Amino acid sequence: MDNLFKTQALQEIDKSADLFCRVSDAIFDAPETAFQEHTAARLMCEALEAEGFSVQRGLAGMDTAFAASFGSGSPTIGILAEYGALSNMSQQAGLLEPSPVQKGAPGHACGHNLLGGGAMAAAVAVKRYPEASGTAGTVICYGCPGEEGGSGKAFMARDGVFDQLDCALTWHPSTINMSSPASTLANYQVSFRFRGTAAHAANAAHLGRSALDALELMTTGIQYLREHIIPEARIHYAITNAGGAAPNVVQSEAEIVYLIRAPHANQVEEIYQRVQKVAQGAALMTETGVEETGFKASYNVLPNHTLGAVMGDNLLALGAPTCTQDEWDWARAMCDTIQRPNRLFQTAAGMMGPKGAGFVSAYQDKAIYDAALPYVPVQYVLPSSSDVGDVSWVCPTAQIGAATMCAGTPGHSWQLTAQGKSSIAHKGMLLAGKVIAGTAIDLLCHPEILVKAKEEHTKTLDGGGYRPLIPQNIGPLDVLGEPDA
Ligand SMILES: [Zn+2]
Repeated sequence: MDNLFKTQALQEIDKSADLFCRVSDAIFDAPETAFQEHTAARLMCEALEAEGFSVQRGLAGMDTAFAASFGSGSPTIGILAEYGALSNMSQQAGLLEPSPVQKGAPGHACGHNLLGGGAMAAAVAVKRYPEASGTAGTVICYGCPGEEGGSGKAFMARDGVFDQLDCALTWHPSTINMSSPASTLANYQVSFRFRGTAAHAANAAHLGRSALDALELMTTGIQYLREHIIPEARIHYAITNAGGAAPNVVQSEAEIVYLIRAPHANQVEEIYQRVQKVAQGAALMTETGVEETGFKASYNVLPNHTLGAVMGDNLLALGAPTCTQDEWDWARAMCDTIQRPNRLFQTAAGMMGPKGAGFVSAYQDKAIYDAALPYVPVQYVLPSSSDVGDVSWVCPTAQIGAATMCAGTPGHSWQLTAQGKSSIAHKGMLLAGKVIAGTAIDLLCHPEILVKAKEEHTKTLDGGGYRPLIPQNIGPLDVLGEPDA
């Protein structure tokens, strides 16, 4: 699906590459965690306004969410941008050893600086198309904060921000170039706070009621629960308050956060109700009180094979970027720092069905996976989560991974952060922008694809629809905890 206007629109990404790389690098240099992404949102809003987008700042109770629109009429295509960093992942770019810019500070260990820059590049290129060709259509670039630990998109979806969309497109920095056919795990994250009675731990322990004992009993109960839930489910936890550092005090307060994941939200809900019973049991045993202090949730991603195939075709048409010898050498040196490589290419091979075996043997020793992989509409569940899930329940949604880092880079690692401003990262980001833009332009030219995508979406929902998992009385700032992806 090619035409002159499309080619010209995609060339716009190369022409303005400096701008997109500059914004991405500036977001990298000012890493901000969930709902604090003020610099990132400002940089993106200002750049999009300068390109003629009309920007609405602040959405769904989040100052750092935005919607930048261009064009008029239907179809309306959403492009999802993220820019949140992870706490305690500070790392200098370009180094081959762990070296924080500032110890304990946040860092872009999931590459969301690139995610923001690539989404912006796509939106700017798509904007050129109706301008030049006279085709109707609206493109909206959504600034989605708090993907790490905040599920910003779930709040945006709950507030109807995506209701006007005919589809949504996005991407994620990766080690491979692939339009993803995969689903993800739905998740709930919930905190439990136990309250007991403080006492001297030696001379009046009988008067104390230990919140820490309750917390430990809860973790024991959950360990037993694990055997009796579906094997695809995961229950992770972090103790966020152990009640203090003094062993000679009966701790009056303790808090723990659980993250429950399973392929479907109703499976998570069922496990959550059992986790609640364990918490109540632990409180009963210790004569303490327990309350839930934080909650957030996101759906599993519903893949849309109609859109995924169009993204896959655009990726194959563009091909993977060519790397210079310097880039290969740098990637090899970075690979050598990784003790336990993330074998994402094997996952990718699994998603390619019978075509996967050849890819594994051809690429297993390479430092960069410089291949554009085909789209195969297989059923596959990635053992991770994303708040893109909520968007995918509202409208047909598709996403690609683009290789911005060396083979085997583990997620949320110093190595991933260190590669966030590299020339390889920039090339992957610009490729992602082009694939998203090319897909959006195909959809503007051929609305019948969107009709098919919506039919598939309706069929996948199977009579269900989007029902927000997060209750209305919980706001983005009530969300606790860290992990999302
Ligand atoms: Zn991420």
